[in-house]
Amino acid sequence: MHPAYARINVHDAGGMAIHLPIADIGPGPPRMTVVAGIHGDEPSPLLLVDRFVTALRDVELRAGIRVIAAANPPALLQRTRWSSWDDEDMNRVGDGHDGPALTRRLAAAVCDAATGSQLSVNLHNFVMRTPLLAIDPPGLSAERRVRHERYIEALDPHVVWVFEDTPESVRTFATSLDAALERRGVDTLAVEMADLPELDEPLLARAISGLMRLAAVCGCLDAAERPLRRTTVRVHRKLMRSPGAGIFEPIAPLASPVEEGEVIGDLIPLERPGDRVHVRASGTGWLIQRLGRRFVRPGDMIAAIGLRL
Ligand SMILES: [Zn+2]
Repeated sequence: MHPAYARINVHDAGGMAIHLPIADIGPGPPRMTVVAGIHGDEPSPLLLVDRFVTALRDVELRAGIRVIAAANPPALLQRTRWSSWDDEDMNRVGDGHDGPALTRRLAAAVCDAATGSQLSVNLHNFVMRTPLLAIDPPGLSAERRVRHERYIEALDPHVVWVFEDTPESVRTFATSLDAALERRGVDTLAVEMADLPELDEPLLARAISGLMRLAAVCGCLDAAERPLRRTTVRVHRKLMRSPGAGIFEPIAPLASPVEEGEVIGDLIPLERPGDRVHVRASGTGWLIQRLGRRFVRPGDMIAAIGLRL
């Protein structure tokens, strides 16, 4: 089925119209919404939703699927996490209904566009090489947790990043777009992937199969035979940051088991060529995320260890 493209008018900014683009596929009101482009420096989700919409052409749908390909157009055009028009993070303004700033108006439009769906799949990417990764948020009720387990099983990601149920992490999530949607009765699933240059075909294929299975869970299509890999690991995530400025050179392969202290890469210091600094794993588990060869500044994210649960 082909999508019907539409625009929801959000704001008239001094004569420049800002709108939220939506694509509706299939009959009836949408039962699943897929949101890309919440952060303007995360282009990978657009590629995934393009492939997903294309894959849906050959599929008979029973109910609607809505795709928001560019949730945050000003930030996307600036290629920055949030737009400098108001410096607000779209994932930290709730449902946006309490303010006139453009990012809040866009967040409100995204929430309105997803309300009524059973599930909103909110897509993000990291600069670090990242496998298909789903987030297990804190503070879910027992009943909601059962549904979350079903969504995770359907997505079949490589990694589930589990947040502990601490008051601090509950507080961090409380202002997210996902939490705002949950309060409106929309289940959410936050999904992460690699940045565009490192987004490979196996990851895309796994993500598309996952989205198809999620659409089946929401009753949008008949479940096709898409074998599950069932290789998912559930981990707490321990982030590692660059100790200095220079070029990070990866050594340890992604998804490999690592021991604390093992060298995962080298830093070629900005001021001391020929005097490489080893970057060592800060914990024992799986290397779930890692930068490719990149220029880094002190404190940039360079890797994440998945601590086994
Ligand atoms: Zn993001």
